[in-house]
Amino acid sequence: RNDDLAATLRGLDGQSYGRYKSLTGDWPAGDATLTIVRVQADPFAPPSRVRVTLPGAAPEELTTTADRRRALAGFLLRRLRRALRGTSLHVDAGGPEVLERSAGRVAADGTVTIELGVPMPGPKRRILGREAATLLGETLPDAVADLRWSVFSEHDRAAATGFVETVEDAVALRAALADRGLVAFVADGAVLPRRSGVDDRPLEGATAFRSPESLRVTIPTPNAGDVTGLGVPEGVTLIVGGGYHGKSTLLRAIEAGVYDHQPGDGRECVVARDDAVKVRAEDGRSVVRTDVSAFVSHLPSGEPTDDFSTTNASGSTSQAASMVEAVEAGAGALLVDEDTSATNIMIRDGRMQQLIETEPLVPFVERIRPLHAERGVSSVLVMGGSGDYLEVADTVIMMDSYVASEVTGRAHEIAAQGRARVVEHSGFPPVTRRVVDPSSLDPTGRQGKRRVTARGVDTLTFGEQDVDLAAVEQIVDRSQVAGIGRALALLGEGVLDGTVPLAEGLDLLDAELARGGVDALLSGGRDAIDLALPRRHEVAAALNRLRSVKVRELLRD
Ligand code: ADP
Ligand code: MG
Repeated sequence: RNDDLAATLRGLDGQSYGRYKSLTGDWPAGDATLTIVRVQADPFAPPSRVRVTLPGAAPEELTTTADRRRALAGFLLRRLRRALRGTSLHVDAGGPEVLERSAGRVAADGTVTIELGVPMPGPKRRILGREAATLLGETLPDAVADLRWSVFSEHDRAAATGFVETVEDAVALRAALADRGLVAFVADGAVLPRRSGVDDRPLEGATAFRSPESLRVTIPTPNAGDVTGLGVPEGVTLIVGGGYHGKSTLLRAIEAGVYDHQPGDGRECVVARDDAVKVRAEDGRSVVRTDVSAFVSHLPSGEPTDDFSTTNASGSTSQAASMVEAVEAGAGALLVDEDTSATNIMIRDGRMQQLIETEPLVPFVERIRPLHAERGVSSVLVMGGSGDYLEVADTVIMMDSYVASEVTGRAHEIAAQGRARVVEHSGFPPVTRRVVDPSSLDPTGRQGKRRVTARGVDTLTFGEQDVDLAAVEQIVDRSQVAGIGRALALLGEGVLDGTVPLAEGLDLLDAELARGGVDALLSGGRDAIDLALPRRHEVAAALNRLRSVKVRELLRD
C-alpha cells in the first residue's frame, strides 16, 4: 500500500465510515512512526487511538532514572496538550499530579511514545478524507515536530529540566521520611489551598505555609538543595484550630502528598509516605466479611462483628470498615478529618457513656494509640470539635488564620487537668486477613465482553456493576480509575489464586506493576486506553466497594 497516510485518507474520502479500519497499523512520519492502534466503529464511539513513536528523542540526561522518565513524559504530555488546544485531538496529560500513565512514556533508550484520542471525522458515516488528512497529516505531525524541537531548544530544555528536577526532589523528600520518623513533610513556602472544589490550581493570594519552629526539619534534595518545613512525626498527630482556619486544607495537602506535583502547583515539596491512606465515613457502602470487632463490639441484630457484611453500612460502621481495610491493605498512616467522619466512631463523652451503657461502638480515640503501638500505623487527625483526643496525641498542631504552631505541651496540660473521661487503651487486635475469591473479580459483562470503564473520577464500571469511588478521596484522576479497574481484573485473572490473603495479592500486584509499569495493566499492543498507575490502596478500596466480591476465608492469627 501507499505509505503516505494523508494521501491515503484523501483517497478514502466519501467512502463508508467503516473503511477507516483499513488504516490500522504503522505509518512512517519522518523519523517518527504513527500507528493507528484502534479505529472507532462509528463517529459517536470513543475516539480512535493513535500512537506516535519517536525513537531516541529524549535528551539523555533526562532519562537516567525511572522517575526522570516519568516526569519527562509528564512534561511532554502537558506541552502537547497545550499545542493541541482548540483541535479535536485529545491527549491525556492529567491534572497537577505527575502520574505514570499510558498516554505518554519515555523508555530508557530515549524513545518517546505518545498516545492520543483522535475522533475520525465522518458525521454522516462517510469518511471526510480531507479533514482526516489535515488532522493526521498536518495538525498532529506539526505539534509533534514542535514538541521535539522545543525539548532540544534552549528555552524549553530549561523548563523540561525544571519539571524533571521538581519531581525528582519530591521523590527524594518522600524517601527521606521513614528514616526521620516522619509521616509527612510540608515545605515552608508551600501553597496548600486550591482555588475551589472544582479547580485544583493554587489559590491566588494564599498565605504561604510556614512551619512551627519546634517541628521544623531540613531535608536535603538533589536539585533544590536543603528544604525546610514541617515534619509531621509518626504516632498520633492532631490538627486542631477554629473553624475555617485551614485544618482540612493542611490535611488535604498531606493526602495529596502521596503524589508528585508539577512546578507551579504550590505543593511541589509537600509529601507523605506512599502508604498514607485517607479514610472517611461513607454510609450506604457495601462491606464484605470484614472484621470490624476493633471498633464494633456487638450489633443489635446479633450479627458477628468479626465477620461483618452489609449492603448498606451506616456512617460509623462504614468508617470502621474503611479503617480496618486500610490497615489490612498495608496502610502505614491513616488520615482522618472530622468533617467527613461519623461522630460516634470518633468520640463519646462522659455523659453519653453514663446514659448509654450498651453502646457497641468503640470510639477511635480508644484505638488510636494501640493502633500505632501494636500495629505500627500512625494517624493524622483533624479535630476541632472535641478535646478527647488531646491526651492521646503525641503531637498537636494548631492552625490559626492559616498559620501553624505546635501546642502539644499546652494540650497535654489541659488534658491532665479536666478529664472529661478516662480513655481506655484496650489494644488493637491483629487484622484479620481475607482470602478473596478471584472469580468474583471478573469484569465480563452480560454480552460476554469485558467491561472496565472509568466514568469520571468517581465511578468505575466493572462488568455489570458501577463501583462508587466518590469517597475514595485520594483518587485524583479518571485514568487512575481505569487503572484500578484493570488492576482488579488482573487480581482476578491469576494474581489472586483463592488461597493467598488480599494483602499478599496486593504485594504481588505491586511487584508486577513495578516490573511492567502501565503495560502490566494493558494486555497486548492493540489494547490501548488512557490509564494511570494506581496505588495498591486505591485498588483495595475499589475491591472493597465491589458489591459482587466474595471472600472465601478469614485467616486469623
Ligand atoms: P477548617 O478545616 O479549619 O474549617 P479549611 O481548611 O476548610 O478550614 O479552610 C477554610 C477556607 O480557608 C477554605 O476556603 C480554604 O481554601 C481557605 N484557606 C485555607 N488555607 C489557606 C491559606 N493558607 N491561605 C488562604 N486561604 C486558605
Ligand atoms: Mg475542616
